[in-house]
Amino acid sequence: MSLKGKTAIITGSNSGIGLGVAHELARAGADVVINSFTDRDEDHALADEIAKAHGVTCRYIKADMSKASDCRALVEQAGACDILVNNAGIQHVAPIDEFPLEKWDAIIAINMSSAFHTTAAALPMMRKAGWGRVINIASAHGLTASPFKSAYVAAKHGVVGLTKVTALETAREPITANAICPGYVLTPLVEAQIPDTMEKYGMGRDEVIEKVMLERQPSKEFATVEQLGGTAVFLCSDAASQITGTTISVDGGWTAL
Ligand code: NAD
Repeated sequence: MSLKGKTAIITGSNSGIGLGVAHELARAGADVVINSFTDRDEDHALADEIAKAHGVTCRYIKADMSKASDCRALVEQAGACDILVNNAGIQHVAPIDEFPLEKWDAIIAINMSSAFHTTAAALPMMRKAGWGRVINIASAHGLTASPFKSAYVAAKHGVVGLTKVTALETAREPITANAICPGYVLTPLVEAQIPDTMEKYGMGRDEVIEKVMLERQPSKEFATVEQLGGTAVFLCSDAASQITGTTISVDGGWTAL
């Protein structure tokens, strides 16, 4: 399928899943806008790499997804938004009674509220263009819970709820809204959790990956950023036109347990 002529904005995409999704949408022909809150040479170099690799245009736009005004400015600066992928996210792990307030606020803002603000700015553009796809990167933690991840689980459940509302408000239009719910994917966000988990459980890296991280992932394999990108491309296809307001799990069987 070709996404030629479509513009995709992917939030939080100078790394991990967002970068993988940007590559796959560009491979399918979309012009892409990648984003994070930094403004380094390497951020712009990533955009150049995507453009060269797939023969599309790719721009890097700095915007801090913890700020409502930046979320909306990202979409405005992009100038067009046919495909919106809300992906920016952070994690913090602590019991509820010790959970730092600033971490709660940051996770709710970046992982959940940003999707509300970008969607609000993007829907008028999709309506004008007569076509649109909202793809929210939620998580298996948008459908299930784990202890010590209160803010993350609350935010991801919130994203799934927002996805359903977006789908209902656009149900009579050629716009769909869905959430992709990955299980564990080996990205910098997950890599950063490995040392602490090794220390907590007194295990080596491989044992932590198999027995702790992938404990609930029956396939015992990480999902890959390419698989998530491929799922996003599918959601942009004609075959997916009647898929809206739902979740697609890419979790090696996690939510079947
Ligand atoms: P990552 O750390 O590699 O990527 C997170 C991205 O968000 C980065 O590009 C980072 O720069 C960006 N970001 C962070 N704070 C931001 C801010 N304030 N403004 C703009 N951008 C910001 O992590 P990832 O694993 O690729 O995670 C991407 C998304 O996928 C997240 O929403 C995460 O919750 C979700 N997810 C990841 C996994 C996994 O196992 N890796 C599983 C389920 C869901």
